[in-house]
Amino acid sequence: MADSNRRFILRNRPKGRITGDTFELVEDPIPQIEDGQALVRTQWISLDPTNRAWLAETPTYLPPVGIGEVMRAGGLGQVVASKHDGYREGQLVQGLTGWQEWVVVSDTAPLLPVTEVPGVSTSAYLGVLGFTGLTAWLGLNDIGRPQEGETVVVSAAAGAVGSVAGQIAKIRGARVVGIAGGEQKCGLLVDDLGFDAAVDHRSARWREDLVAATAGGIDVDFENVGGPIMEAIFARLNLRARVVLCGLISGYNDAEPPPGPRTFANLLRQRVHLEGFIVLDHLARIGEAATDLAGWMREGKLKPLETVVEGFEQLPIAINMLFDGANTGKLVLHVSD
Ligand code: NDP
Repeated sequence: MADSNRRFILRNRPKGRITGDTFELVEDPIPQIEDGQALVRTQWISLDPTNRAWLAETPTYLPPVGIGEVMRAGGLGQVVASKHDGYREGQLVQGLTGWQEWVVVSDTAPLLPVTEVPGVSTSAYLGVLGFTGLTAWLGLNDIGRPQEGETVVVSAAAGAVGSVAGQIAKIRGARVVGIAGGEQKCGLLVDDLGFDAAVDHRSARWREDLVAATAGGIDVDFENVGGPIMEAIFARLNLRARVVLCGLISGYNDAEPPPGPRTFANLLRQRVHLEGFIVLDHLARIGEAATDLAGWMREGKLKPLETVVEGFEQLPIAINMLFDGANTGKLVLHVSD
């Protein structure tokens, strides 16, 4: 058992990418708990594009992480000691653990019990059966609502949310086109996940390839990226298309927001429904989503993808993998068993 508590503290707000001086690694004794508290050992930390947005001075849907505070992040761990009636030793819990090896939970800083599903790896509760799976499920079911035979385009399609969203759209009978970086990811989408076509946004011909792959136009855009990719998709939206505005990762490292898409007028002409959503508003539906997602996994219709990074000290490097496209599926960091 580790005999100290390593934590990453925010020291400098990054301008652009996260760098070596963004965080300081500090080492303290393992916290002692008092009545009404429980001690959790972190096992897995979720790396999410939104982590970068929380480092900006401007509030998002949550306040910015303060200078001198532990980096905020989703994670999962096991209760190792409890003086709180709501937590028992050995229980798996998840929530905002932050970038720290040990977490003190209480009524004012709670974590949620994990409802375990047989035959599933623990890290899946941060991915396909966690927030990213719920995000894909909500966006597709509530906003995208693809009908059989419609064309759905998913950007960041080989990532955590995108790979699940695209596979759900296939299950719903849609024709699915994924946009991803590189031939390997595009091959995986078509050959392993059953997408109908994939467009490599790193290719010089990506605009022509998108047009060829969406010859009948686009009925649903599951938008994860923004920027030039979203602009090109908007130009191809069909009458009464739906845009699931999930994320805009291409701008998260930029100090200034990008100019609006020049193709925006097409949304008016085509009577498009565009809706943004934040998964944290819908946590009450995680059980409903997990039932569907776990069922599809059992039936072999949904393949979970995951990239695992080993070692707590790798966190500040691993987070940049999301912006370099170095992950396939859900990016998680393994802290302890
Ligand atoms: P991913 O696993 O998809 O990782 C991010 C991927 O984005 C990278 O692997 C990379 O893939 C792609 N990417 C990064 N930068 C660019 C760029 N400039 N242009 C094109 N592609 C890029 O992350 P998540 O699945 O966790 O998140 C996907 C999106 O969903 C994000 O925008 C995130 O903020 C959003 N999100 C929104 C939620 C909500 O509640 N609304 C909840 C969870 C996530 P590639 O190699 O293909 O380029």
